[in-house]
Amino acid sequence: MQLIPSFQVDHLRLKPGLYVSRKDYIGYECVTTFDIRMKRPYKEEVMDTGSIHALEHICATYLRNDQLWKDKIIYFGPMGCRTGFYLIVEGDIGTDTILPLVERTFDYAAEFEGEIPGATPKECGFCVDMDLTGAKRDAALYYNVLITATKTNFNYPQPRKKRQSK
Ligand SMILES: [Zn+2]
Repeated sequence: MQLIPSFQVDHLRLKPGLYVSRKDYIGYECVTTFDIRMKRPYKEEVMDTGSIHALEHICATYLRNDQLWKDKIIYFGPMGCRTGFYLIVEGDIGTDTILPLVERTFDYAAEFEGEIPGATPKECGFCVDMDLTGAKRDAALYYNVLITATKTNFNYPQPRKKRQSK
């Protein structure tokens, strides 16, 4: 089987940031998948399951209620490696266009108070695994990444050029 493109990103050189993971076409309609990379792989601790789970509930609820974007949100969910999330949006969208939405989503999560949406046994498959304190901390750290980001936080590391052999 072929290695899928997201495994071809050099995760050893990947910084926290916001990246276009892929663009897919369904007929003539484009959907853009964003890599919301919150933790630097192998340099920072990955998120705890309770934190990433709480963030999934809080951020998904926020995104699907955002007045500008709610009708274009297709999917938001955690990466299995627990270093970030994928966000899938309708349209051919760049990081500069989606950045304000992602910033306000994580700003909202960092300040979140009250009941986590959908956190009951009837609404969720394992609602006891929620850590709001951890979620708010991880959201605040990522928000700080976004507001201080430079272009290396928005573009995947380019493959290293091979050295010329003499
Ligand atoms: Zn859940």
